[in-house]
Amino acid sequence: MSAINVQNIRSLFPILHQEVNKHPLVYLDNAATTQKPLAVIDALQTYYKVDNANIHRGAHTLADRSTGMFEDTRKAVQQFIHAAEPEECIFTKGVTESINLVAQTWGRKFLQAGDEIIISYLEHHSNIVPWQMICEEKGAILKVIPVLANGTLDMAAFHQLLSVRTKLVACVWASNALGTINPVEEIIAAAHAHHAVVLLDGAQAGSHLEIDVQELDVDFLTLSGHKLYGPTGVGVLYGKRALLEAMPPYQGGGEMIKEVSFEKTTYNEIPFKFEAGTPNIGDVIAFKHALSFVNSIGKANIIAHENMLLQSFTSGIHQLNQAFGSDQIELYGTAADKVAVQSFLIKGKHPFDVGLMLDARGIAVRTGHHCTQPLMRFFDIEGTVRASFAIYNTVEEVNILLEAIKKIVNK
Ligand code: PMP
Repeated sequence: MSAINVQNIRSLFPILHQEVNKHPLVYLDNAATTQKPLAVIDALQTYYKVDNANIHRGAHTLADRSTGMFEDTRKAVQQFIHAAEPEECIFTKGVTESINLVAQTWGRKFLQAGDEIIISYLEHHSNIVPWQMICEEKGAILKVIPVLANGTLDMAAFHQLLSVRTKLVACVWASNALGTINPVEEIIAAAHAHHAVVLLDGAQAGSHLEIDVQELDVDFLTLSGHKLYGPTGVGVLYGKRALLEAMPPYQGGGEMIKEVSFEKTTYNEIPFKFEAGTPNIGDVIAFKHALSFVNSIGKANIIAHENMLLQSFTSGIHQLNQAFGSDQIELYGTAADKVAVQSFLIKGKHPFDVGLMLDARGIAVRTGHHCTQPLMRFFDIEGTVRASFAIYNTVEEVNILLEAIKKIVNK
């Protein structure tokens, strides 16, 4: 029995109550982006109707108000990830920008020729390409943790890769393509034993997993607001104070300075040092309401509900294969420890065609390489069909998906 009332939760999401191609919408593309509750949508509207003003420098009431609300979100993020202080939480536009920020500032300052960065086969392109770029610039070397057939990391190989040359381990916490939850505690402890810094890509962890950066002792964590029931264009870079203070600024401009003259500029304190220019004020303010939404349900309830949906889906697929008498549907990513993301392929059907056939029944899934081309190459496939579940999805929706898959196989 689920401890939550899904129908009540669904009533908070206006977008879910519509027909697509004459069928009730079944939204199972949550790993790409989650839908937004009314509180987030309303907060955005209210901000522009009532509170809009540029932040931090104003002497007037609206500027004061919007500054307060913007900084309140920072405090909410701090509490959400259990950071020691709000200043360790930098606003960016998403995980991609957060990772690029670290690569371009920490990487540019601290990497030297011959240094090594370890990533994994499970990485999203946004946790591969920024490191390739900085490695090329600095003459550093990118090493990759291999993956096993079930979608878990080859941890023995990881321990072998670590050496005195390792300067950074950048690893996804939960895979967007396969759902695998990586053993981040073990990764962090091993990397620290080699004096390497650890960055976790938390894009998929944000809405699905309990986060305590101090307990984890992670150096950098990145989050995307839009995968956490919040608006697009808001992201977070968490970093330990000492690291952030040692890093040069990312972009130059207003707000990130203390004093500017043509001869010399001194930089502001963190977090402002990394927030040049007018930020995405309205969306950051609305993001606080997304965090409140998640808190109001509780991560433990979210995890239990989503695991239940994942279990019903995978056991439904096994039953279908049994009924067909052969594996017509192949699952990719069968780790024991997973977030509610399931990739699959139907024999003889291109994933894109399957996506279109599901869409014709109102079912939204993602097809393709999921920005993880090296991982797809490992499985020797072009891409998969991916169903990804959120707190507002129901067992009925899982059954609708299973029924549609059955019809596609029989076609
Ligand atoms: N990493 C992972 C694991 C992701 O799932 C995504 C989004 N698909 C990203 C990074 C990039 O996030 P964003 O596009 O929000 O910057």
